[in-house]
Amino acid sequence: MTADISRKKDDPTASGRWHVLSRQDVLGWLDTTAQGLTTEGAAPRLERYGRNELPAAEATPALKVLARQFVSPLIGILVVTFVVTALQQHWADAAAILVVLLLNAAIGFWQERKAETAVRALQRLSAPTCRVVRDGAERELAAAELVPGDVVLLQSGERVTADLRMLEVNALQVDESMLTGEVLPVTKQVHRLPVHTAATERTNVAFSGTLVTAGRGRGVVVGTGSGTELGIINELVQGPTGKTPLQVLAHSLQRRIGVVVVVSSGMVFLAGLALGRGVSEMFRTVIALAVASIPESLPIVLTVAMSLGMARMARHNAIVRSLTAVETLGSTTVIGSDKTGTLTRNELTVEKVWTAADGTSDLHAPDLHAPDLHASDLHEEAGSPHRGRLPVALRATLRAGALTNEAVRAPAESGTAGEPPLDYTGDAVDVAMLRAAVHAEAVTPEERDARWLAHTPYEPEIRYSQTVRVEGDVRVLYVKGSPDVLAGMCPTMATDRGDVPFDREQVSAANHALATDGMRVLGTARRILDPDEPVPRPLQPPSGLTFLGLEAMEDPPRHGAAEAIAACQRAGITVVMVTGDHPVTAASIARRLGLGTGAQPVTGLDMEDMDDPVLATRLRESGVAARVTAQDKLRIVRVLQDLDEVVAVTGDGVNDAPALRAASIGVAMGRSGTAVAREAADIVLTDDNFVSIVDAVKQGRVTFNAIRKATFFLLATGLSSLLAVSVNLIAEQPLLFLPIQLLFINVITNGLQDIALSFEPPEGDELERSPRPREEGMLSRTLWVRTMIAGAWMATAILVAFRWTLDRGYSEEHARTLALTLFVMLNFWLVLSARAENRSLFRLDPFGNRLLLGSALGALLLYLGATQWALTDDLLGLVALPPAEWVTCWLLGASVLVIVETDKLIRRRARSALGSGPSRL
Ligand code: ADP
Ligand code: MG
Repeated sequence: MTADISRKKDDPTASGRWHVLSRQDVLGWLDTTAQGLTTEGAAPRLERYGRNELPAAEATPALKVLARQFVSPLIGILVVTFVVTALQQHWADAAAILVVLLLNAAIGFWQERKAETAVRALQRLSAPTCRVVRDGAERELAAAELVPGDVVLLQSGERVTADLRMLEVNALQVDESMLTGEVLPVTKQVHRLPVHTAATERTNVAFSGTLVTAGRGRGVVVGTGSGTELGIINELVQGPTGKTPLQVLAHSLQRRIGVVVVVSSGMVFLAGLALGRGVSEMFRTVIALAVASIPESLPIVLTVAMSLGMARMARHNAIVRSLTAVETLGSTTVIGSDKTGTLTRNELTVEKVWTAADGTSDLHAPDLHAPDLHASDLHEEAGSPHRGRLPVALRATLRAGALTNEAVRAPAESGTAGEPPLDYTGDAVDVAMLRAAVHAEAVTPEERDARWLAHTPYEPEIRYSQTVRVEGDVRVLYVKGSPDVLAGMCPTMATDRGDVPFDREQVSAANHALATDGMRVLGTARRILDPDEPVPRPLQPPSGLTFLGLEAMEDPPRHGAAEAIAACQRAGITVVMVTGDHPVTAASIARRLGLGTGAQPVTGLDMEDMDDPVLATRLRESGVAARVTAQDKLRIVRVLQDLDEVVAVTGDGVNDAPALRAASIGVAMGRSGTAVAREAADIVLTDDNFVSIVDAVKQGRVTFNAIRKATFFLLATGLSSLLAVSVNLIAEQPLLFLPIQLLFINVITNGLQDIALSFEPPEGDELERSPRPREEGMLSRTLWVRTMIAGAWMATAILVAFRWTLDRGYSEEHARTLALTLFVMLNFWLVLSARAENRSLFRLDPFGNRLLLGSALGALLLYLGATQWALTDDLLGLVALPPAEWVTCWLLGASVLVIVETDKLIRRRARSALGSGPSRL
């Protein structure tokens, strides 16, 4: 809620007029200071104004979800058959079709609701946070806990989480398109504005929901929750919930099945008439046939399998933002990964410093503080109390690294008495450089806490940061950043002989030597400003600097990253490290991770005059793209996608958003990533870890496989009933199955078992196979063939059993019951065998999918019950079978398992004979 200042009746500024007040007045009205609130002060405000949240978006209305269950081509056929049956007054059949329809809708409804709840729960997991000043220290806070009066810090890439009256800005630009539709970013300022300034022109207010595209800022919260502009407009920006490609695939499969069913039913119908059967009887047969052979539970299977996959991924630190991602992940063929923080730990420590005067010094060496100072004429900083015994050049380098730096003192652990710990948080590079300098006593904490005059924050696009500070009676400009970038800004460099012209060769050799060990190298430089030189804000890009030295930071590979890369290689997935860092550093890390073939990394510069195919080949060979910009990254994604690769790419910065969007799978970093990157991505990693991407790919494959298994089962049983009924009819046999029998089986076997198949757990070898070919539909060729074989076999078995029983002189009812029982048994065995696509059933954990075991047995019992119970016997036209016939059917049913397992065996043999297939199938 907006702070309730309207109670002060005589005040001209009602809520929403914060832009009129001066900063001091705003703070006064809100009863806060530029140092923000205390924890105690914030608690009652939270009570009073409520949480900083907009009312949750309405769930999709239940009716809509329900209605959705009926819009599918197959369900359409069912509805038509229901109407026709009812018109013909076959009440039992009509009731049975209705039951199928309703049951299907109910399961679908329930599953979709469940999936929706799961998605929301996951989205809550990735709830936004912000940086706030509480108790005088900067800390991270859940955005929902912000209250009016809080002082919030903004930086590029963040989403503004409440309405803020700006107190301080540094080249702060905000994208307000979500509120105003205006695409150009708005530059913010801190001064008062006239009363009648339109909301969209209030440049001293940053609105909740907008995005910081550049710079830094600090503002006081004036409105939260529904009291914000966003809340007032209340236009929730929600992701579209389009159909996933898999659903599209499934839809087209269903449509094709629908056509096959309609056409073949029509043919059966005509054939029946030609053979002199009654129209009404044929109608019933054909309708039952259509119902039985339609895999109407396919959409349910998809939803179930994908929401299960989503949950599994979440357990493995990957939060999926759309169901689409689950299956696309499974077909990933290339992963383009950041280096820093994803493949490496990003726990940086400065190990070595190089200066022209002293060469390379090891910061951890005990004799670092040499007794004799170098005779350098570096301008010594006036007034710095710790003129320690560090070599002058080394000290100057460390100072520069610490004084253009945004790391902040970490909040003291609550309860620790005595000295507050001198630790820092912020960008890992900044923290490392600041720690090194403070530790070596090259700066005092007070010195570094002193306010700067002007500052350009580090952004990946510019690769440097600069700060102007007052030191005694001079102003000094400090710069740190990529050595290549600094080289262009430094006409001179500091040596023990004084400042000399910058020696590109020498610095680059030193940089190279440090980078060869995989270290991240940054350069430092400075310039003393002329006394009358103006300091423009924002600062211009620096020039005329004196180069000071290099700082090298160790950034070891993450635990498990090398193994995950090896797993990708076995799984036919190419991994490319895409980094803004130096090629030599990148190549060294790549070597340690086993990436690429050791070929030279591709650099952003090389890329410029490389055409697409060459680029793709070079990327595959070296596995490394270094010194790349966000534009280069986008091009890499596009080039690979043009070659039909399914590309997953990671990103964290604002400028990574286009690449994240363009990629088949955008992967954002949950910890270090910006809100912009997270919102452009399909999945968010809660631990920023490369290993989690590979886990997610595996889960994606598990999901797709489960769907495939269920589809195979559905199609094979559908096909068998279609074949059996039509052949039987053409062979002029008595009616094989009554419509109601087929309907009953359809509900029990298909309904229970195929959904259970979608719960099939990982087989464990998902990453031992190559990615699924893009052009492959729902089923692989192998599975299509197997569908035909199994379907044909089951139909044959049923027909033979039926004929045989009739020939023995049993009644038609008896023969029908026996044939139906055999069908049920065949389904029982088939569903077990369908649990694995390639692997032998006997190598699976028999209790691996208890749900499936349970529902397969449950279906059997239900059917058994139906045959034994007189009432259902009457209704379904069944007779009670003697136990011996039960057992015989059960055993005969196993024949389909033998057939499917033999098919698997032959294919495994063929593959290992070819030597092309993966070994552990
Ligand atoms: P990566 O792709 O490995 O994450 P970055 O894009 O973060 O690499 O960094 C690219 C380059 O920018 C680094 O090699 C370094 O030269 C420079 N750089 C990184 N962090 C900072 C920083 N905090 N301040 C100044 N320069 C930086
Ligand atoms: Mg980075």
